[in-house]
Amino acid sequence: MAVAPFKNDAPIDWEAPENRTILNKNLEFVKSKFGEEYPLMIGGEEVLTENKRPSYNPAVHSEVVGYVNQASQDHIETAISAARSAYESWGQTTFQERSLYLFKAAEIMKRRKAELVAWQIYEAGKNFAEADGEINEAIDFLEMYGRLAIELDQGQDLVSLPGIENRLEYKPLGVGAVISPWNFPIAIVTGMTVSAIVTGNTVLLKPAALTPVIAAKFMEIMHEANIPDGVINFIPGSSGEIGDYMVAHRDINFISFTGSKEAGLHIDEMAHKRIPGQRWIKRVISEMGGKNGVVVDESADLDAAADGIVTSAFGYQGQKCSAGSRAIIHENVYDEMVDKITKRTQALQVGPGDENNAINPVIDNKAFKEINEYIEIGKNEGTLVFGGDSDDAEGYYITPTIFKDVPPESRIMKEEIFGPVLAICRVANVEEGVEVYNNTEFGLTGSLYTNNREQIMYARQKMDCGNLFFNGKCTGALVGVQPFGGYYMSGTGSKTGCKDYLLNFVQAKTIAENF
Ligand code: GLU
Repeated sequence: MAVAPFKNDAPIDWEAPENRTILNKNLEFVKSKFGEEYPLMIGGEEVLTENKRPSYNPAVHSEVVGYVNQASQDHIETAISAARSAYESWGQTTFQERSLYLFKAAEIMKRRKAELVAWQIYEAGKNFAEADGEINEAIDFLEMYGRLAIELDQGQDLVSLPGIENRLEYKPLGVGAVISPWNFPIAIVTGMTVSAIVTGNTVLLKPAALTPVIAAKFMEIMHEANIPDGVINFIPGSSGEIGDYMVAHRDINFISFTGSKEAGLHIDEMAHKRIPGQRWIKRVISEMGGKNGVVVDESADLDAAADGIVTSAFGYQGQKCSAGSRAIIHENVYDEMVDKITKRTQALQVGPGDENNAINPVIDNKAFKEINEYIEIGKNEGTLVFGGDSDDAEGYYITPTIFKDVPPESRIMKEEIFGPVLAICRVANVEEGVEVYNNTEFGLTGSLYTNNREQIMYARQKMDCGNLFFNGKCTGALVGVQPFGGYYMSGTGSKTGCKDYLLNFVQAKTIAENF
């Protein structure tokens, strides 16, 4: 099958007048849909349940974006049976056949882009560029995994011996549980789900409790792309009640998880507990947190470094596992850099995403409280330079907050905050900067700004993380361009957006036929 070469989906400037008109219409349309109800989807059937959970707009927390039916353990049983029975035929189709559904879904997503941007703005609390970037990422995952799957049809080249035909073919694992996060509610939902299904598995998709409506939109899109019944079963619900039940279930083959370190470690433990009658070892693919940082040398372009630090720290209010929540700066440019970072941060407008403010609300009341607790901790650990204010009267707003002179061993330099809080630390040279950078249990993203080639060569070896950037921000890894995933407590080291990722969801079969 001939497929055009992969190209990342282009960003749209929603501020351009003609685009703004389209977006405004979609914002109105999405608002008109507020409060609607979303069913479970099991074996292609819509299922309504007793328990409906509201999903709120974080910018106006009195507004209910939608009511989402919640699955019980009985629904998990039905969903596993539906997934198992769909697997019988889906698992037998070719990679190429399955990839067509992904290409179709990508086209539908492109067509519905303005609407999806609007849902992101209202349910996830994003501004135009953050929302747009995320839909691009979702489209890219569809386009990229579709293409890479076709390559898997070829198996692997093996040594050929006379009289024997040897083949290595990739086979699916079976039925998987996909547990997705709220911070990239369409990109990560899409990436995690379609990588698992294009490789021939069927799944139970448990979307994040805070952004299930956007996930329901993804389901609509897959349905419109004609995905066969039972291949993706949509089962929103509580982690305690159905998440654990599903992870511990004997008939689940693998778990694909993105979320916090604590939840990831809990899943890992449950998934590997021996169950009577167990017939396989569950595979766990997890992408967890980060405590990422940007190191700045005295030789760096300081304006570029300040831009990169502010974007990495405060983009989507710091609620990215890739967020650069630490700036580690050479003492000779320290004061100048603090000044540049502060000026840029002061210029960021705080307010709702539908007015395209730079800083939007954090996701919910719990996040609001936890981030504020870290701000209090920061006041004892460093010097507050800017921010520290918050207001949850209407939405969950926190002013982007900067602490300087923060010692490397302090909590705000080592713990993931997942909010708009930047800790700045002074170092004597890049070697010390790299040491401070490495001083956490995570290893996800990092940047070094320098114009010194030797330092680049040094940091290439020594900065211990899965995604390393030179002279660029540490967020916003692009599908196919910068495969994404980290070391240590940041996850199992899988790389999204490249072929390696698909290998997480298959097992290889070697077939030797003697003639
Ligand atoms: N891939 C995203 C980025 O590079 C981060 C994903 C996450 O926060 O889980 O910004």
